[in-house]
Amino acid sequence: MSEKKFPALDAFRIPAAVLVIAIHTSPLASVSDLGDFWFTRVLARVAVPFFFMITGRFLGQTPRRFWQRTLLLYAGAALLYLPLNWYAGTFSALDWMRKFLLEGTFYHLWYFPAVLLGVPLVCLLRKLGTIPAFCAAGLLYLIGLGGDSYYGFLADFPAVHAFYKGVFTLFGYTRNGLFFAPLFLLLGMFCPKLNRKTGAVGFVVSLTAMSVEALWLHGLGVQRHDSMYLLLPVCMLFLFGTLLAWNRGQSRPMRTCSMWVYIIHPWCIVAVRGAAKLCGVQVLLVENSLVHFSAVALLSFAGAVCMMRLKPRSIPCGARAWREIDGKALVHNVCALEEQAGSAVMAVVKADGYGHGAVLVARTLQKAGVTGWAVACLSEGIALRRAGIRGRILILGYTDPAQAPLLARWRLTQTVVDEAHAAALSASGWPVRAHLALDTGMHRLGVPAQDLPAIRRIFHMSGLRIEGVFSHLCAADGTTTPEQMYTEQQTNLFWKTIQQLRREGIDPGEVHLQASYGILNQPAISCSWVRAGIALYGVYSGTFAGKNPVPLCPVLTLRARVATVRCLQPGDVAGYGLAFEAERKTILATVTIGYADGIPRILPQRGGRVLVRGEYAPMVGRLCMDQMLVDVTGIPGVCTGDVVTLIGKDGAKEIRAEELACRCGTITNEILSGLSPRLGLCLKKRGRHKIRAKSL
Ligand SMILES: *Cc1c(COP(=O)(O)O)cnc(C)c1O
Repeated sequence: MSEKKFPALDAFRIPAAVLVIAIHTSPLASVSDLGDFWFTRVLARVAVPFFFMITGRFLGQTPRRFWQRTLLLYAGAALLYLPLNWYAGTFSALDWMRKFLLEGTFYHLWYFPAVLLGVPLVCLLRKLGTIPAFCAAGLLYLIGLGGDSYYGFLADFPAVHAFYKGVFTLFGYTRNGLFFAPLFLLLGMFCPKLNRKTGAVGFVVSLTAMSVEALWLHGLGVQRHDSMYLLLPVCMLFLFGTLLAWNRGQSRPMRTCSMWVYIIHPWCIVAVRGAAKLCGVQVLLVENSLVHFSAVALLSFAGAVCMMRLKPRSIPCGARAWREIDGKALVHNVCALEEQAGSAVMAVVKADGYGHGAVLVARTLQKAGVTGWAVACLSEGIALRRAGIRGRILILGYTDPAQAPLLARWRLTQTVVDEAHAAALSASGWPVRAHLALDTGMHRLGVPAQDLPAIRRIFHMSGLRIEGVFSHLCAADGTTTPEQMYTEQQTNLFWKTIQQLRREGIDPGEVHLQASYGILNQPAISCSWVRAGIALYGVYSGTFAGKNPVPLCPVLTLRARVATVRCLQPGDVAGYGLAFEAERKTILATVTIGYADGIPRILPQRGGRVLVRGEYAPMVGRLCMDQMLVDVTGIPGVCTGDVVTLIGKDGAKEIRAEELACRCGTITNEILSGLSPRLGLCLKKRGRHKIRAKSL
């Protein structure tokens, strides 16, 4: 796993969006006709097939959800262009419906009905097998060509002419969901990664050949619409294959930005032309095609950025009390743990990612290449899938077998907690994927590891797909000899059972045993996974006393703000229950976080402290539900709005989660998993929150 990511596929969406704007504004029109033809009718023709290919590539196993979302987006976009339809006054309600379903209600919107038709068509074609699907899609593309750039060659044959006439009364063009989209969707699905050099050379050569093809057709004047060429699919294979070789991870902002540019740029054309007319600067803004194109592109990107900002952020960060997540630290920890364990990390993101925000954590790690996830329950698993998390999601706890349809629907892997559970899941009639838990001595979940007959029976249950076997160590963090012996005993029993199964020809599938302390305290054992929870977040459960500390970085910073500051005279009291009495003149700051946010109520009485302006300040009085009092007498200049750090660094000083846990007599796992979802949540950005409200 590398920490540097360049999301080539998503990055190319931006130039592709610019090319689409070019198609609709002809930037070179006032410079050279031929140049403009080549730029907008040849080069820019790679843009839309690219969007089809990327759709095909990431269609995944939920095309239905993609389809529904696209339909919704299309409906919104069609509404957005209704005023322009009305202004142009060109079509009736019935015609509008036909355009909506088949052709697109505005010139650029054809992409949506094409995807909506193309995706189910491709799903159907794939049932025939890959090669027949390609043949069918290729044939459709050829028919499409006949109604596009090659139209003039065929239009003289009466039967052919009648055929295309029929097509055009329905669709307007052959560049649509029937003839155009299927081939590119399939190419996207199956396009191989190319060696970068080969790919780039191939692209240049095929683009040159396609230019020759286009100019030849252009010269003959046979085109009806110049958007499909014989060589376009070849060109696209080289382009996409090269980008695949470059691709590292994803960029959601680039995806969203290109989508908005695509949707709004025709409105921007209208706006630029309208503004030019109003201000009487048409000569400059409209007649000079390059300036016109640049103005439209600028406005479209500015509009896209505005739309992205408009999207409601979940909970604002920095307003009251919030968590900052250090994505780099998270990826660093995964790398360090994988190195130590010699196995892939299954990221344990139960309890909202130990209070770090499960979706944020999983998205960050997914970009870094993590493909295995563990959660505590069904709802947590579904939340991850809804957020677009792929790969194995293992539910570590019990799920009622009545929920088997949801397990299947969301492709979740269920832990089998005992033989009766296995039987009930198997009898549910749903193809449930499962990992079998073995009880090697914790006596919490799992089939007793010694009970081989039961294990064999479970493996032979027909309604169950056992894809892995695991166990959990209950004293891996122990430092005493009996604890260490117990861990060894559990480990030996686990492997003995696994080896026995293998000897009997039963494939246990993915095998995993260690959680955080198993990774830290045990030498590398080769498993399919290690289930890293607390260590993933860069903290130890308590103070680490083991033998093998891995360099971990804390991921979470917890901050709040000073709401107000007041001065108490000796003898004044503060807070509930008169718990604090000033012995001297005291400056108190009221801080915007309390026990409902997950801070243990006992903390002020156990020496709890915060960082303000880079200095430690003790908590005083009783902790309130939503606020706390802090003594800032020794720290000059504290004022409303100052950022207060409860966990993490401020300047050179730091408060670690272990310190809080230790003061409260618990482990960091409990403190972190108790953090409230009402806390703001954001990825850490340098200099994002000013630590001080005003300078001194
Ligand atoms: C919670 C849990 C883990 C993660 O434990 P950590 O000690 O936080 O790494 C791993 N496996 C199982 C079965 C768990 O329940």
